[in-house]
Amino acid sequence: MRVLALLDGTPADPDAPLIRVDDLGLLRGDGVFETILVVGGEPRELGPHLDRLARSAAMLDMPEPDLAAFRRAVDLVLGTWSGGPEIAVKLVFTRGVEGGDGTPTGFALGMDISPKVIAQRAGGISAVTLERGIEPGLAERAPWLLLGAKSLSYAVNMAALREAERRGADEVVFTTSSGSVLEGPTSTLVLARGRTLTTPPSTLGILPGTTQAALFRAAERAGWSVEVAPVDVAELYPADGVFLVSSVRKITRVHTLDGKALPDSTGLHTVLDGLYESEY
Ligand code: PLP
Repeated sequence: MRVLALLDGTPADPDAPLIRVDDLGLLRGDGVFETILVVGGEPRELGPHLDRLARSAAMLDMPEPDLAAFRRAVDLVLGTWSGGPEIAVKLVFTRGVEGGDGTPTGFALGMDISPKVIAQRAGGISAVTLERGIEPGLAERAPWLLLGAKSLSYAVNMAALREAERRGADEVVFTTSSGSVLEGPTSTLVLARGRTLTTPPSTLGILPGTTQAALFRAAERAGWSVEVAPVDVAELYPADGVFLVSSVRKITRVHTLDGKALPDSTGLHTVLDGLYESEY
């Protein structure tokens, strides 16, 4: 099922043509987006998602998104939804039409969670490491690369997932050329060693994750240590658990990396999932 709401607060038919062919979001991937998980009618981390949408838009020198209008569009989607208890709500905000008056295009689209993601939440995933061509310091040195912005230009991320599939894996862990861990194409990497959780710093040019932040909040409250620190690929193999986390996939266990089985983290996954769920 899919439900669409426009930024002006009106519903629209998700199966009908809507976006102009000269919209810069379509022509150049010039825009930003967010994907929010809704469970039982409650959006998770809505504030942090909206803040990140605004931050991404600022990085692209776009107009400030009307966050109240986005909240209204989300409410409209949720009020109209008659599908299952979980929804992925995508917020899209583009630069608008080429040569136009600069009015952005924006909408909220509610969608079912794919059965593949639901299966991966329970069964875990295999992943391969792939180079992303980002070196420490580049994000700061070259802001025009938009590293760390959630822009609509995800063609590279999708190509990496196809490469993973060619190599017989489900997912990707992006790395720098010197072997430092970055993130997944649509997820944040979290590493567990003892009762310490670690995630690579967003200053490397990766997206600060809302799910990782929620998990770390819950873990800290439960007495775990959490750290934001560089992680080498070699550190992943002996870790107690490697997880790819994101709004829609939640906490997903990586059971195999580059063809090698990782230590069984099934029990740890149950614990971390419980911590994450305790936030809601
Ligand atoms: N990193 C990238 C590149 C992403 O696209 C996403 C989400 O889609 C994430 C990390 C995880 O972010 P969040 O937990 O806020 O969904």
